[in-house]
Amino acid sequence: MVESHGAGASDTGKVRTNNEDSFLADDSIGLYVVADGIGGHAGGEVASRLAVDVVAATVHAGLAVAQGTPTTDALIRLARTAVESAAEAVFSAAGENARLHGMGTTLTALLIHGDSGIMAHVGDSRLYLLRDGVAKQMTHDHTVVQGLVESGLLNAQDARRSPFGHALARSVGTEATVEPDVVPLLLKAGDRFMLCSDGLSDHLTAAADLIEPLSLPLNEAPAALVRFANEAGGTDNITVIVVEVRGADDDSVLRRESGVHFVKR
Ligand code: CA
Repeated sequence: MVESHGAGASDTGKVRTNNEDSFLADDSIGLYVVADGIGGHAGGEVASRLAVDVVAATVHAGLAVAQGTPTTDALIRLARTAVESAAEAVFSAAGENARLHGMGTTLTALLIHGDSGIMAHVGDSRLYLLRDGVAKQMTHDHTVVQGLVESGLLNAQDARRSPFGHALARSVGTEATVEPDVVPLLLKAGDRFMLCSDGLSDHLTAAADLIEPLSLPLNEAPAALVRFANEAGGTDNITVIVVEVRGADDDSVLRRESGVHFVKR
């Protein structure tokens, strides 16, 4: 069994007047979610909050009825259902209120349970992994521009300058259905994951920029990353969650040293 510990921070940034990002870091179920709302003033905030709440409620309910530790396949199905339920909820809330019409959100989630890690992702928020001193982007942006780069119609340099850089090819709640990327991850004790909205990733020149701030103590890393984005301009809302994976082996050593005997689950 691995254990996960997360710490998050969200900031309006230096340009925007409201924060349309939402996040959740719940160690009790190993669930970490970042959502960046789209669709005007009220809409974006409502969409990102609702999507995070529905994902959390779905995962809570799914784990509560599971018998024993769910398999990786069962967790993949649960993560997919959670994102699909969020899309249905946001889409139907948008249909009930003209002010919220067209709202939607990005959604990037990490679920760590038993020995399994699952990533579920829609949009252009991101998941990064720092392992053995190397930082790597795990998600793939669902933007129109990224699609053009991958099909060879646009080069990466022009893509960065494109005024349509943030037009999403996929989002949660702008339609009743959604196709999330749901991917199992192999976990290693000492891994540091980071989930973030584009208010941080837009200011990164390379994943390697993250090595130093992500190596800070867990309770300092999110604030340091928010500060990094604000010092680079703070052009958008900034949301960051840093998650540390701790192994069962380290854990059993700690328990033995404390003089209490635990049976390994
Ligand atoms: Ca944003």
